[in-house]
Amino acid sequence: MRKDNNTGLKISRRSLLKSCLAGASLAAIRPFSRASAFSGASALKNPPLIPPDATVVNGYCPFCQVRCTYHARVSSGRIVSITGNPRNRWTGGAMCPKGLSILELMNSKERLTEPMLRTERGWKTVTYAEAVALVAEKLITLKKEHGPKAGERLALTSPLWDCRESELAALMTMRVSGGVNIMPAGEVCISTTANVLSMLLGANTSTTTVDEITNARLLVLWGANLAETYPVYSRWLDKAKAGGTKIIYIDPRRTPTSLFADVQLQPEPGTDGVLALGTIRHILENGLYDAGMVGRTTTGLEALRKGASPWTAERVMEITRLGAEELGAFYADVAASERTVIWMGGSLCRFTNGVQTIRFIISLQGLTGNIIGSGRGLLTMEGGKPEGEKEFIDAVCGPASMPGVNFRRLLAAMKKGAIDLLFLNSSYRRYPDCDAVREAMKQCGFVVYRGFYRTDELEVADLFVPATYSPESSGSHYGAEKQVVWRDQAVEAPGSCVPDWRFYRDIGRLVAPEVYPDFRDPAELSELFNRTVDSWNGFSVEAMRKSPDGLVWPRPRTDSPILTGSIFSRGVLETEDGKLNFVLPTLGGFSWEYPRSSPHRPKAEKDFPLVLIQGKVVTQWQQTMTNFSPSLSRMARGRLVQVHPDTAAAFNLVHGDPVRLETVVGGLEARVDVTGNIRPGVVFTASHFVEGSPYAGTRSRALNSILPNNWDRVSAQFNGTGCRLVKVADSANIRVEREG
Ligand code: SF4
Repeated sequence: MRKDNNTGLKISRRSLLKSCLAGASLAAIRPFSRASAFSGASALKNPPLIPPDATVVNGYCPFCQVRCTYHARVSSGRIVSITGNPRNRWTGGAMCPKGLSILELMNSKERLTEPMLRTERGWKTVTYAEAVALVAEKLITLKKEHGPKAGERLALTSPLWDCRESELAALMTMRVSGGVNIMPAGEVCISTTANVLSMLLGANTSTTTVDEITNARLLVLWGANLAETYPVYSRWLDKAKAGGTKIIYIDPRRTPTSLFADVQLQPEPGTDGVLALGTIRHILENGLYDAGMVGRTTTGLEALRKGASPWTAERVMEITRLGAEELGAFYADVAASERTVIWMGGSLCRFTNGVQTIRFIISLQGLTGNIIGSGRGLLTMEGGKPEGEKEFIDAVCGPASMPGVNFRRLLAAMKKGAIDLLFLNSSYRRYPDCDAVREAMKQCGFVVYRGFYRTDELEVADLFVPATYSPESSGSHYGAEKQVVWRDQAVEAPGSCVPDWRFYRDIGRLVAPEVYPDFRDPAELSELFNRTVDSWNGFSVEAMRKSPDGLVWPRPRTDSPILTGSIFSRGVLETEDGKLNFVLPTLGGFSWEYPRSSPHRPKAEKDFPLVLIQGKVVTQWQQTMTNFSPSLSRMARGRLVQVHPDTAAAFNLVHGDPVRLETVVGGLEARVDVTGNIRPGVVFTASHFVEGSPYAGTRSRALNSILPNNWDRVSAQFNGTGCRLVKVADSANIRVEREG
C-alpha cells in the first residue's frame, strides 16, 4: 500500500491497476505494470511453440504513434507470434495489449471478408472488381454532371491509415476526382494543439523528442495519461525518474500514470488554462524570469502580464479547486526549473476552451525559456507528422481546384443531401452528437464503407469493401519522434480483403489513368515520393527496411545527420521573426471561460450538475475495432461510470448500481464504479465502446451519442459537459467487476 504524496489518498498499485486497467481474468494478455512494460514474449500466458521453419518478417503496430516495431514469426502462411523488436531505441522491444491484439483481430470469426452491396432485398455479395468499377463509374459520372463543382459533392473521412502509402493513394484518388472535402482523423479531437503550436511557434508538432525528458529537471504531464494511452513510453518515465527528473501529473483522475508521478494535481476538469495563467502571473509578479532571454525570444510580454494579472492565487484556487499548498508548490517548481518539458495530453483540447488552454501552456514555456534546448520542450500526444504530402500530390496530380470545408460545413452539406459520394473510412461515432451525424450520412447519395466487422457504420453504407490489417500488406508509417518505419507483408489477407492503397489506386487508375501513378505496391509509391519531395530525398525503402526503429524525417540526403531532440535546429522558432509572440489577433485576448455546457457556467442547466469527462483506457485506441479482441474485451470492464464516494452518496448510489448516464442530449446505461481516484462532482467513462461488439466487456451505446454538438474554433467538445446519474432497474446487458 502506498500513500499518495500530496492528496492523502491511499492506493495500492494492485487496486489501481485493477480499477483502471483490467478485469480479473485475462486469457492471453496481462495488464501493464510499472515494473515491466509489455513485450511480446512476456505478454502471452502460454507462449506458442515456434515451428523451426518459421521465418521472421519485420513490421510495426499501426495503432498509435509510439509505432512499436515487431518481429512476426510466420509458419505455413500464418503468424504464430509477434514480439517487439528489442533494437528499437524508443520502445526497447516492448508492445502494449492493443498492438498484441492484432492476431486476434486478424483471425476473428467476426471479420467480414467479401465486398457487399446494399440492394432493396438486403446485402448482396459482389466481387472486388465489381465494387471498384461501381465506385469509379460514380466518380466519372459525378465529374460529367457537375464539372468543376463535382469536388464539392464528394467527401472522404480518414481513418488512422495503416500506412502512409494508403493515405497518399486515397488523397490522390480524391485529387484526380476533384474531391476537396477531406476530414483528417485528428481534425475533430486533437487538431487544436497542432493549430495553436503552428500559430505560436511556426511548427505544428511536438518541439522535442521523448528521450529529452531524461535531460529535464521537471516533467509536467499535463492531462497526459501516458501509462494507458502510450503504455510503452512508460519506460521513459522510469528513465527520467532514475535520472532525477521530477514528474508532476495533472489530471482530475488518479490513473496508472499516477504511479510514476512525484506529485499529482487534480484540478476541476477544463480549468487547466486558469492554472497556466495563474502560474504565469506568479512568475511575472515575483520577477522569477530572465528578462533578457524573454526580451530576445518573445514579443508581447506586457500584454501577457495584463492578461494574467486577474488570476490571483485565490481566484485560481476558486476555479481549479486546488489547495493553497499544492498550488504554491506547483508555482515554485515551474518557476525554479531551468529545464522543463511539458507533455500536453489530448484531453486538453477536447474542452471548448482548449485553444486558450494550449496557448497559455505554450506561453508559460516561452516565459520560462523552456521551448528550445536540451531537457526543454513541448510534447503532444499526436507527435509529429512529417511534411511533404501536399507537395507530392500537387506535383503528381496537380493543384486542388478549390479549398475544402471543415467537418461542420460538411455535416450541413450532408444534411441537405448535397454530398453524392462519401468514402467512410472511419466511424461516424467519433463525432459529438453522433446519432445526428449518422442520420446526416444517410442523406448522402452513396456511402462506401471500408471496415472489418459488422459495426454500426453498415447502417449508413451502400457498399462495404473489407480492409486488411497491417501484417497483411507492406508500407511505411511515421511515429511520434518523426521516425519513419517500414513494414513487410507477413501473410496473405483472407477472402477479398484489400489494403487501402490498392483500393484507392485501383479507383484512381480507372478515373484518371493518364494522371494517377501506376505503382505496383507501396514500395514503388514510397520511392516515387522520396524522389519527388526534397526533405525525403535521403529516404529509401531499403534503408527503412534495415532500421529497427526507422529513419527520422527530415532527411534531404542519405548522409543527413539523424535529428532527435529539439526540432528548432537553427536555435530559433520557425515564426517569421524567430520569436514567440504572446499576442496574436487570431487568438484574441487572454480571456478564459468554462467549457460549453459545463454545469459551472453562469446560467448553467441545473438538472445536470456533474462534469462528464471521457478518455481512453489501456484496451482502447481510436479505432473501435479493438473491441473485437476477446482478450482486450476480458480486460475491459463494460460501460462503467467512475465517481467519487461523495458523488455516489449524493445520488444515493453504491458501487455496481445500474444507472442511466444522462446529458441534455440523451442517456446510456452503465454501472457505477465508486472510487476515491476521481474528484468529487466528476464522472469519467471510457471513450470507445461499440454497440455491435460480440463481447459484453466492450459493448455499449456510443458515448458520443449523448454529447452535445459543441465545437470551439477548431475542435469538437468531448469533455466538460454537464450530466447526471439516474438509478435504473438492473439489466444483464451492463457488466461490472465488483470489488474484492
Ligand atoms: S498501440 Fe501504440 S504502444 Fe501499443 S503496441 Fe501499438 S504502437 Fe505500441
